[in-house]
Amino acid sequence: MGKDALISTCMDLHGNVTWRLAENTDLITCYRLAPHEDSMDSRERAVVNLVDRLESGKGRPACKAWIPIPILLPGEQTSTRVEPGKSLYGSIDPATKQAGVTDAAIWIGYAWADEPRNHAVVMAYGDDKDMVVRTAEYLAHHFWSVRHQFEFVAPTATLDECLDKAISSTKKPYFISDMGDNPTAGGAGDVTWTITELLKHPEFTSADGKTLVYASIPGPEFVAKAIKAGVGNIVEGTAGAAVDNRYAPPVKLSGTITSVYLDNPDNKEVVVKIGSIYVIVTEKRKGFHYVKEFTKHNIDPAKADIVVVKLGYLVPELYDIQADWMMALTLGGINQDLPNLPYKRINRPMFPLDKDMPTPDLTVKIVE
Ligand SMILES: [Zn+2]
Repeated sequence: MGKDALISTCMDLHGNVTWRLAENTDLITCYRLAPHEDSMDSRERAVVNLVDRLESGKGRPACKAWIPIPILLPGEQTSTRVEPGKSLYGSIDPATKQAGVTDAAIWIGYAWADEPRNHAVVMAYGDDKDMVVRTAEYLAHHFWSVRHQFEFVAPTATLDECLDKAISSTKKPYFISDMGDNPTAGGAGDVTWTITELLKHPEFTSADGKTLVYASIPGPEFVAKAIKAGVGNIVEGTAGAAVDNRYAPPVKLSGTITSVYLDNPDNKEVVVKIGSIYVIVTEKRKGFHYVKEFTKHNIDPAKADIVVVKLGYLVPELYDIQADWMMALTLGGINQDLPNLPYKRINRPMFPLDKDMPTPDLTVKIVE
């Protein structure tokens, strides 16, 4: 592209901004909400910033500030639905309304990449250097000052404890996040540990037990067998653990096919009922984020007793229908036990791995 083109960048706030990336983008911004209900607004802001700079002839902003913050937290503790994430991210918009500041952004970062770039970052840019520096440092200090207040956004427990609570609860649907294998957070999405445990559970072995919907496990061979057999027939086969088999081997599924969905030829889906569990099996790994992804299988998640999803925090449509919700500390690539992960390459000290670390240098690095 050469050095003349003005580059505007919109990112997910769970990304990492290296010095090199900061140098190579002129107008950078990121989402201000998690879950990312503002993703399109953020992209629009990135485009509007670019068009403004071009139309006004102002070109590159005079000052671009970058501050790395040695904090490493998962998205499941930093949702902007609750404090302190809500106020921290809520303080960005007013800061960008100051004269001389074009935009500002806070990146939480991505906690499961063992890379030196893996930490929080604040950036701000605009034409008034003093205001840009002050804004970036204000946001960085705000973030650092609330670091001890971040907690999981729903109660967390082992899968067994979550199931005990869900089974004894009168509230339905009771949602459980199979948090360790969330494919939208980078998990393989095919870890079979949780579904294997569910199928062993006595509560769900008979057809009249509490209904549990499991969304989902990839198993292309099982899907092919089920399509061939058709709805109402019994199919036996295995699914999952093609990518991540560290915790459990492919799971044996044997039950009645209740739904076959062929409308998405790139990822056909079936549902197999085993005891009182409806297991959604897909050809490829997939996150279930919308009610219609259940209802297309004639499953109304709002009427199920228990719904288990491969997610961390619940996405808006599911959050809206849950009567209660827990996040299970399950195994997988998105293991939430960060203090015990064998990091080798991230910078240290890092909060909260090094809990009593000294206050870091949060002064601005000006990106030339
Ligand atoms: Zn994200």
